[in-house]
Amino acid sequence: MENYSMNSNDFFKALEDGALIGSRCLDCGTMAVPQRQICSKCLSSKSKIVHYSGNGSLSAFTVISVPSMWMSEVGYNGKNPYCVGVVALDEGPKISAQILDMDISMPENIQIGTKLTMTTVSHGEDGNRKIHLAFKPV
Ligand SMILES: [Zn+2]
Repeated sequence: MENYSMNSNDFFKALEDGALIGSRCLDCGTMAVPQRQICSKCLSSKSKIVHYSGNGSLSAFTVISVPSMWMSEVGYNGKNPYCVGVVALDEGPKISAQILDMDISMPENIQIGTKLTMTTVSHGEDGNRKIHLAFKPV
């Protein structure tokens, strides 16, 4: 398995490989995603990279019809909104990401607790391509 470092670029390098990485504090066990050198709980600088399963459940969500600049550049707008959610990973930590394949025309039907699995979305041309974490229903 590829070795990743605490460098934030490696989070995206892992996504390119289809992997979701984070870190676990060696002093208090707190898990983070993306990885962090300094533990947010005990401020220890001893942590190691962990690989998450990429599975989790929807903890909160919102449907966005006034997109951020880069989301509007890739075609989202008031007529083509998108869903962003907070996903509680099976291992514990939470991360926000775009949620795909939801019926966002009826947000009231989107269920908190829906089981999700990671995927990625990428936008842009070859030299300028950016990869982003996303989730979709299992
Ligand atoms: Zn800690």
